[in-house]
Amino acid sequence: MIDIAFEIKNTGKTFMPAYFVDLLNSSLNGLSQKEITNIINSRDGLKDKFLESVIKAAGTNVTTVEKAIDVLGIEYCYILLLNVILKDLVLAEPNPVLSPIFEMQLFTAASSYFLAKKCKLPDAHLAYVSGLLTNISYFYIFSSHPSEFRQIIEKNDNSIKRMTSEWEIFGLDHAEISYILLEYSGLNSEITEPVRYHHQKTIQRSIGSDNKDNYSLCLYFGSVLSNIFYEDLNLATEFRKEIKNLMNLYSDNLEDIVDGSVDFFKVCLKSLYIKDIYFPGYFKIISRFDTQIAMITSEFDMTQKKIADLNSQTIKYQKVLEDNSRKLVGIALLDPLTGAFNRRYLDEKLHDEFLKAKRYGINFTLISCDIDHFKKINDTYGHGFGDTVLVKLVAIIKSTIRKTDYVARIGGEEFVIVCHSQAGSGGCSIAEKIRKVIENSVFEYKENIVPVTMSFGVADYYPEVKSAQELIKISDERLYKAKNEGRNRVVEK
Ligand code: GH3
Ligand code: MG
Ligand code: MG
Repeated sequence: MIDIAFEIKNTGKTFMPAYFVDLLNSSLNGLSQKEITNIINSRDGLKDKFLESVIKAAGTNVTTVEKAIDVLGIEYCYILLLNVILKDLVLAEPNPVLSPIFEMQLFTAASSYFLAKKCKLPDAHLAYVSGLLTNISYFYIFSSHPSEFRQIIEKNDNSIKRMTSEWEIFGLDHAEISYILLEYSGLNSEITEPVRYHHQKTIQRSIGSDNKDNYSLCLYFGSVLSNIFYEDLNLATEFRKEIKNLMNLYSDNLEDIVDGSVDFFKVCLKSLYIKDIYFPGYFKIISRFDTQIAMITSEFDMTQKKIADLNSQTIKYQKVLEDNSRKLVGIALLDPLTGAFNRRYLDEKLHDEFLKAKRYGINFTLISCDIDHFKKINDTYGHGFGDTVLVKLVAIIKSTIRKTDYVARIGGEEFVIVCHSQAGSGGCSIAEKIRKVIENSVFEYKENIVPVTMSFGVADYYPEVKSAQELIKISDERLYKAKNEGRNRVVEK
């Protein structure tokens, strides 16, 4: 394994002359027009190259640095200046193997910068600075280890495979090697750390208060975008999810983000006086990219639609399930013939009523009732008609009592009604009301009008009563009394 870190420190070859390091580090203190102008003027030929690039980018003739800053703004001019210097340092001549590498890092820088702007980070150019240095290690490896360089680049067609190769040869990947080169050159850690971690999402936190993290995150996504663009469009789906979670950018904005990055990247290319020979990748990819990104988008939309459909189906099933369980509960508590509650429900409810009355003084009334001479009705008109009478009586009782009151069928033709009326005559008046409604209702069998009446025994809750059962016993006794006194009447004492 080659100890590249040791080697860098001993040869001191880093592509990073002191003036360039100063210029890069100065990005941390807010950009100064004076500093930029001084550096441009201190280097032979730099001013002409810089102005040439400004003219390409702006599309207008500019003759002084001051004017350039006036026209494009200081941030933009700074970025163009970095591009010009770095290209001279690592790619003085066109080179078919190095050009795509330079191109990719330029793209990473452009998209990181665009993302930083999109997230409204205050010094977006910091994302650009780190982005522009991500692949610096490849230029070092190219010149100091040409055969290993060929092994890494030629045998592997994507960044994961390349990185595996890098680990095998150097025990480090290109991100770590770039970091070592930059650290050794004296660059500030605010710039070097994002470079070091530009392929590692695990250490990135979501966009937030920590500035270094924010720029790291932009650079991470910038490099993912560049992988999507240059290598694997399928990464786009994952990217949408991640960028939404981590940067609060909506996944729908993918096209926006790509468009914005590509637009800015194009300006950088143009300003660098780039020809096809320098950047074969871009011109080949751009047309393929447009069609494939459209495919990925429609696939994504379809998946979203499928998810929405599944969700609405789930809601439907949930409703059916709820309905069914409500039905089950109903079956367990209702009398199937009349739809009145059954004995079990009444026992449970009475227990509650009793406690509520004891604790909170919420009184209730029990009304026991029974159809008069029902046997005779059955015998005369048949059991079927008897059933109809039962059903109709329950309907009458339900529509006469209040919503909070209820009726339970506790025997063949015996019922208990529970009412929440005031103590005293309340229960009695309700029973009387029901009795009258029944008496006045018309029950018909074929041509015959069948008189149907009921007898009632009423028992109001009173504090001394020991149990609900005791109260039922009292109302039952009064019902018995009502029968004995001639039926079709209410007895409350
Ligand atoms: P009373 O006025 O004293 O209450 O006389 P009754 O005839 O109503 O009382 P009895 O207890 O002698 O008769 C009750 C009848 O109710 C006997 C039975 O055939 C009938 N019955 C009980 N359950 C049902 C039912 O579900 N459907 C029908 N049709 N009749 C039923
Ligand atoms: Mg009866
Ligand atoms: Mg009976």
